[in-house]
Amino acid sequence: MKNDEGLDFALSHKTGRIVDIRMVERGLACGCVCPNCGAELLARKGRKNRHHFAHHVAGRTHPTCEGGRESTLHRAARQIIAGWRSIELPALLVKEGGRQAALPGRVLSVGRSELPDDPGERSLWSNVNIRPDVVLHGKDEQIWCEVKVAHAVDDSKRAQLQCYRVSTLEFDLSQMYRNGGWNLTTLDLALRTDMSIREWVFHVSEAQLRRRLQEEVREADALQRTKLAESQRHLRNDANAQLRIVAGEGDVGPVEMMFHPAFGLIPKDPVKRLAVLSRAYPEPKIFHLNRAIAFLRHHPHGDRSCLVTFGGLGPASRTSEYDAALSEFARAAGLNCVYFGIAESRLLRGEHCYERLDQFLTELQARDSEIPNCR
Ligand SMILES: [Zn+2]
Repeated sequence: MKNDEGLDFALSHKTGRIVDIRMVERGLACGCVCPNCGAELLARKGRKNRHHFAHHVAGRTHPTCEGGRESTLHRAARQIIAGWRSIELPALLVKEGGRQAALPGRVLSVGRSELPDDPGERSLWSNVNIRPDVVLHGKDEQIWCEVKVAHAVDDSKRAQLQCYRVSTLEFDLSQMYRNGGWNLTTLDLALRTDMSIREWVFHVSEAQLRRRLQEEVREADALQRTKLAESQRHLRNDANAQLRIVAGEGDVGPVEMMFHPAFGLIPKDPVKRLAVLSRAYPEPKIFHLNRAIAFLRHHPHGDRSCLVTFGGLGPASRTSEYDAALSEFARAAGLNCVYFGIAESRLLRGEHCYERLDQFLTELQARDSEIPNCR
């Protein structure tokens, strides 16, 4: 279906909220208008075409007004984000002079949220030059969210964000916009779980991290200069000294790292990665399953995240089966699930994460103990 064939979302006249095509009656009884141009909408829920809202103006219908699809997707995303009670903040990566540093991601509990562009709330923001799409209030901080459908945060907005010093996330829906066919559930799932579409456009800690890296670069340069001066002195004194320099007394170089959207920088080598994990999540609780062992680990600093690892037992190991069941459970329970790059290991985050996973694995263990072990 092409982009111009109607809207996925519409504004309900009765509630003032964005609805999707599944939520309304067919035809004009849907009681919806286009939030972009204000036209009355018709819910098309026939057998042949994909269900959508069409504009109904002066007795005639046409797919959409210019900017209608962009505007409704944008509003649907804002409404969804404003309804979240927690958000997974991604890791921050800073690069400077060939070096990089990262701040790991975390989960923020959201107490309340604001939609500064909504008519009711606009006046509160009238003194501010910038109106973020969504404002999420944590306990002692706020996070601003921008939704990109066609327009990204540009340089002038970036400059303004520097002034207000509030960490700002951008959700990039430009790819999804092209596809179409969204409802509120699938859009929520994509916004919540796809870490590749969220990115910091401003972060309060970025400047500090950058300064630290610059300091490191300066120190490394100074060290290099001292070494160079020393080696030149050696050269003058000892014709063989050059050999030593070539052999390399300098840095062996750090462990090769890669960026992970939840953890920040992690070792590229999976074995070293596992070591990082067990340091961060010590003392597992162990569950004995049929031909597998499950390990449940809790983050010691109480960031409400857990690590679940399945270890295989014997040749007919069923770890991938358990992993699939866990993934299914996490989705149903609304837990954020992050793949760490090691098979059958998952990082899960959310309210009462440990208790719920404990219960899930306990039930799995109980169920398995009823099954004879030798099938
Ligand atoms: Zn319209």
